[in-house]
Amino acid sequence: MAMAFRMRFEVKSSSLLKNYVSALIGCAAMSVAVGAAASGSKPAVDKALHDQALEILQKSISFRTVDGAGQVPAYAEYLKSVLVEAGYAPGDIEIEPVANTATFVARYKGTDSKKKPLLVIGHMDVVEAKREDWKRDPFTPVLESGYVFGRGSADNKFDVSMITATLTNLKRQGWKPKRDVILAFSGDEETAMVSTRKLAEQFKDAELALNGDAGGGLLSEAGQPVVYGLQAGEKTYADFKLTVTNPGGHSSRPSKVNAINQLAAALDRIGKYQFPVMRNELTTAYFTASLPKLSGPTADAVKRYLANPEDAQAIATLSDDPSYVGQLRTTCVSTMIEGGHATNALPQKAVANINCRIFPGTPIAEVQKTLGQVAADPEVKITQVVTGSVPADASPLRKDVMAAVTKAVHANYPGLSIVPSMSAGATDSMHFRANGVPSYGVSGLFMKDSDEFSHGLDERVPVSSIDGALAHWNSVLKDLAR
Ligand SMILES: [Zn+2]
Repeated sequence: MAMAFRMRFEVKSSSLLKNYVSALIGCAAMSVAVGAAASGSKPAVDKALHDQALEILQKSISFRTVDGAGQVPAYAEYLKSVLVEAGYAPGDIEIEPVANTATFVARYKGTDSKKKPLLVIGHMDVVEAKREDWKRDPFTPVLESGYVFGRGSADNKFDVSMITATLTNLKRQGWKPKRDVILAFSGDEETAMVSTRKLAEQFKDAELALNGDAGGGLLSEAGQPVVYGLQAGEKTYADFKLTVTNPGGHSSRPSKVNAINQLAAALDRIGKYQFPVMRNELTTAYFTASLPKLSGPTADAVKRYLANPEDAQAIATLSDDPSYVGQLRTTCVSTMIEGGHATNALPQKAVANINCRIFPGTPIAEVQKTLGQVAADPEVKITQVVTGSVPADASPLRKDVMAAVTKAVHANYPGLSIVPSMSAGATDSMHFRANGVPSYGVSGLFMKDSDEFSHGLDERVPVSSIDGALAHWNSVLKDLAR
């Protein structure tokens, strides 16, 4: 998510964290070193389709689909009307209420019922935006200086709109996919993900899922393509609460036990601990793809690490770099602390939050056990904070997916490097992967880092990104629904 990427590897599941986090490690380094691929001649997109896609995006922004506003069902009805107008049978579209939000499912029938369906996922809800904080009304789409402004313009209404427009176009053209192509949009991805879990359960027999809410392309500030990130895995998000309680007492009569000191000592031990180094197909592919763009000690360390996963010096170099440490191992850090109740009293209680990003394949309980061992103090109680996050293995880098995405990206940007990534936070893909459906973040959005405002103020997307995204989805869907 440095830019298009960064925004999409957003962290969620905790109300503490509404920021996105850069998970495509080293992206910044790459953007300096990679240089640009040739822009090439881009596939032509019909003007009428461009206009329709822009209109869908603008209308989409006008639905205030924030948590609790109850606007997701109305937005889903709008998307349904767009598809029905293009020739979808109303009976092939289901909008199911989930609390005050909804799921949206639209089936494009394939010709071969023996083939498992291709899922295309995204989310209809957006992060809250307050009118008084924004220069423009966040829920009135504004076209200005070549951008569409509005909450959700990037996350995730851009890809939801581009995918919807692409499918209306394919319908009008009489396209006949072999597999069923199922649009499955969630309605509370940014918060509880209850609708996501429902969809992931409903479609656990799908062949694979393409997610428009992750991956995507980075443009340099000069507008040249830098890299395309394909998200195929996510670390598991987990929070743990560490609590120490003492009888307390008057601060003029200190005893040997002190809840704050005890907790601080445990946190210090955890802070110094490093979880074992792990690697998977995704991180290996990531380091391999990054290597040609790196230089100096980092390049040397990556090269040595790839040659020998136990090279202690290389691991130490990469572990010291916040851009890389997350791709090497589970990480756990202290993020919040509170304790004591008066300036002149011994603390009766001290509590800390430890936030972990767990390497795929490691159970959350195992991390909790390790934290207990490292804290090495039975009076420090460790409990998991319920966040709704579930562990999920990384998806395999399937040849058909890699080939389809490479072809689509190269049609727009010949020769651009495509880097698989494991992000640090959770998207809807987490629940699909947990149910055994390989899921790939393959957004069609290319943006500059400086245009990236997902979850933030004055979120926007360049109008110039629309045609590329339409061509991208058209190509990827045609190749993978075969
Ligand atoms: Zn999103």
